[in-house]
Amino acid sequence: MPENPRTTKTKSPSAADTPAAPVAGGICAIDSETVVATYDAAKEDAKSAKTSRAKVNLAELSHDELVEFLGTLGEPAFRAKQIEDWVRSKNVRSFDEMTNLSKTLRAKLSEAATLGGVTEVARQESVDGSRKYLVAFDDGTSVECVGMPHGDKLSTCVSTQAGCRMGCLFCATGQSGFTRNLTADEIYAQAAHIAQDFGRRITSVVLMGQGEPFANYDATLEAMREMNSPKGLGIGARHITVSTCGIIPGIRALSQEPEQFGLAVSLHSAVPETRNTLMPGVKKYSLKRLHDAMKNYTEKTRRRPTYEYAMIRGINDDDASLDALVDFCAGTLCHVNLIALNHLPGSKLEPSDPARLDAFVKRLSSVGVETTIRQSRGADIDAACGQLKQRKAAK
Ligand code: SF4
Repeated sequence: MPENPRTTKTKSPSAADTPAAPVAGGICAIDSETVVATYDAAKEDAKSAKTSRAKVNLAELSHDELVEFLGTLGEPAFRAKQIEDWVRSKNVRSFDEMTNLSKTLRAKLSEAATLGGVTEVARQESVDGSRKYLVAFDDGTSVECVGMPHGDKLSTCVSTQAGCRMGCLFCATGQSGFTRNLTADEIYAQAAHIAQDFGRRITSVVLMGQGEPFANYDATLEAMREMNSPKGLGIGARHITVSTCGIIPGIRALSQEPEQFGLAVSLHSAVPETRNTLMPGVKKYSLKRLHDAMKNYTEKTRRRPTYEYAMIRGINDDDASLDALVDFCAGTLCHVNLIALNHLPGSKLEPSDPARLDAFVKRLSSVGVETTIRQSRGADIDAACGQLKQRKAAK
């Protein structure tokens, strides 16, 4: 029996790790106390999601759980192996395709269970070959994910929550509220769907779509492990990167995990007031504390984290912002990814001029900070996360 990578359990960072005193005042849309409370609530949501549905999702069950479930239907344990083969290796979307099971058993299963996975609701395809998908789960909740081919490689971006509580000003998802955490299977199923649609192996994945992964830590780690497993998608751990807006307990917890997973932190400004305004969900974690946490992370893992920095005209692209960014990064092990902001319809925030991006690269590189300009893929197809979902909802 193949080992089910989902059986490896992780311990989520404790809310006790989070400081008690929130930062008061400011113009932010979400206050820090709300973030602490919702961080805990999100973990509870994740625990109950697996069991609260009317039907059991077979893709979420470990081998032992599947044997136990089949026992409740009066079926022998060996059926579990057959079903796992259909669900995990053959990725079938209906019980009728399980041709080595009797019709009676298939009927019993469709009464009591689902196969998990995703249903594609909408897609957009860019001239650069990128495909953005809106996919729905059994309960109708939908999220976005993206596949980006380049040469013989396939990069993907998947969501970890439906919606997000972090409220980042420049993000369509952050402006649309929170629905629920995704289960590990739902996170994994997005990547599996993209691989199947492109008909090729995924070479890298970033958990940078909708949601804050460290507000859904256990499910996120479980999904990453399954993507990494040869029994899952077989993606190398170094090519699986989790992206956080700077949840310090999550950064600390990731540094303790045995795998070589990558870490990206959305920085977007090293000026405290600007960052607090742009990213109200993490204003409780000061830049000083973030800097310390990243130092610990690099000392412990010896891995180079990435700082994501969306350049916004007149907000975080002036010389003072560049000075602050240099101070934050110089002398540390890191890579800075600059990207011109994806403009959202109706937003006053505009992308910086290319000359400012070049100026940032030049100065950061001059002090030894590895810096690249990330090209926005799929600029013609609602490149920013949350836009396809909003567009579909508006129809
Ligand atoms: S940028 Fe990420 S963390 Fe911020 S609101 Fe959007 S999805 Fe959430």
